[in-house]
Amino acid sequence: MPGRNGPSALLAATNAVPHTSGTRIVRLSLIFMLLVLATFIGVEGWRAWRDYQQAYAGARDSVINLARATAQHAEDAIRQVDVLTDALRERVEGDGLDHLDVARIHTLMKQQAQIIPHLHGLFLYDANGRWVVTDKDGVPDGANNADRDYFEYHRTHSDRRVRIGAVVSSRSTQEMIIPVSRRLNNPDGSFAGVLLGTIRVSYFVDYYGDFRIDDRGALVLALRDGTILVRRPFNQDVIGTSLTQSEIFKRYLPQSSEGVAEVKAVVDGTTRLYGYRALGSYPLVVEAGLSRDSYVGPWWRDLVKTGLVLAVMVACLSGFGLIVLGQIRQRVAIDQQLRLAHQRVREMALTDSLTGLGNRRRLDAELAAEIARAGRQQAPLALVMLDVDYFKRFNDQYGHAAGDECLRRVAEAIAGALQRPTDLAVRYGGEEFTVLLPNTDARGAAQVAQAVLAAVRNLDIPHQSSPHARVTASAGIAARLPSAPLGAEALLRIADEQLYIAKAQGRDGWRG
Ligand code: GH3
Ligand code: MG
Ligand code: MG
Repeated sequence: MPGRNGPSALLAATNAVPHTSGTRIVRLSLIFMLLVLATFIGVEGWRAWRDYQQAYAGARDSVINLARATAQHAEDAIRQVDVLTDALRERVEGDGLDHLDVARIHTLMKQQAQIIPHLHGLFLYDANGRWVVTDKDGVPDGANNADRDYFEYHRTHSDRRVRIGAVVSSRSTQEMIIPVSRRLNNPDGSFAGVLLGTIRVSYFVDYYGDFRIDDRGALVLALRDGTILVRRPFNQDVIGTSLTQSEIFKRYLPQSSEGVAEVKAVVDGTTRLYGYRALGSYPLVVEAGLSRDSYVGPWWRDLVKTGLVLAVMVACLSGFGLIVLGQIRQRVAIDQQLRLAHQRVREMALTDSLTGLGNRRRLDAELAAEIARAGRQQAPLALVMLDVDYFKRFNDQYGHAAGDECLRRVAEAIAGALQRPTDLAVRYGGEEFTVLLPNTDARGAAQVAQAVLAAVRNLDIPHQSSPHARVTASAGIAARLPSAPLGAEALLRIADEQLYIAKAQGRDGWRG
């Protein structure tokens, strides 16, 4: 068993260290880079999500406010006409249609029409639809509104509240108007005629035009049955069309009179976030919508920009990281080679080149360490010094090269005769060898010495100039006991003295 007498075990153990720690550094750097990238992407992702939420919340607030403002506006406009026609109704019904002071009512109507800017006109029709009095100067001959659907409605319904009708074109001015009408009764409750106040559609169009919303935003005023009265963007063809098939009228309004919903408009197919609201006092609905593009667009453009910057950053970081990683790898490889070279140099410095055993330097180091350990552990320690017999003669007879070969084989035999992995054989110099035996007393050392000498003898290398006719060696033993703690020098000296005695006593033997 080679034990400590071969270099391979030591080298293998030291090689493993830099390799493992190198892989670890590379892996750690990689994890760190990935963590940095993940953090960047995570933070940006979170920021984008938060921005989207904010954009959505902003749009939501806007449409709610817009719906509230337009609802209030519509309600105020209708209420004024409602109150005005109610007062006129009192008056007309009190006087009775037959005894009406037409001139005074006309003046009154004219004054009111001037005060209320959105009021297009005030009209009074008798039970047959004939124009009785208006705020205008002069009544067209034979004018009759019995064909208007509000007239038909009031004639057939006793309901006394105002009725808001679909947009019509004025017979007096050709303007687009919203008719707000109410029924007039005779004292017996029978149908006496209709009082009509008309509101200019342009009044709403102007008002809706003042809001700062994007091009694809929409503001809608509709009757509760879905008929569109006013819409921004204004398009005459859309007025009077129905919203009954729209998501808001079909799904949302039946559930709640106000709210927010993102839906596709039936009118133009644009997806918008709508704030909708059904008025409390009149059968009207307002919708205020901001196109999805108007609030998602800026966010999206921002996201694309950020994404591009992030991509460039990730690319730079990855490139930089790869360079750093390459450098680290290179450093690790160099480090590994250096350590290896260092180990080899160390190994060489402690190894005898001829025999491969340790050299005197190795013995000095190990002996000091073993003496210290023996002291600590109160353990014995033995040293055997060996010297090849008549080696000068061997060289002289067989030549120096054969001498070298002989030394190699002797070294092999010595190392092979050692039993414990902790036993150490070194070439002390020339044809001298030393065996260090930790945890071994004098008796054990004698056994080892005998075994080693036998192993050398059994090589059976012919040596004609020796009285033993083959190569032999002599040995001197020194033992260190806890009771007699000798130092390195003393041990070497004693072993040498014993070796000298063994030589003197005929060689091929040991003393100790
Ligand atoms: P002894 O039995 O008393 O030990 O006699 P010896 O001849 O072995 O002793 P001595 O110390 O007089 O001679 C040692 C010789 O060993 C001297 C030298 O020629 C030889 N020698 C020492 N180192 C080497 C070596 O590396 N290679 C060879 N071939 N010979 C060596
Ligand atoms: Mg010698
Ligand atoms: Mg000798």
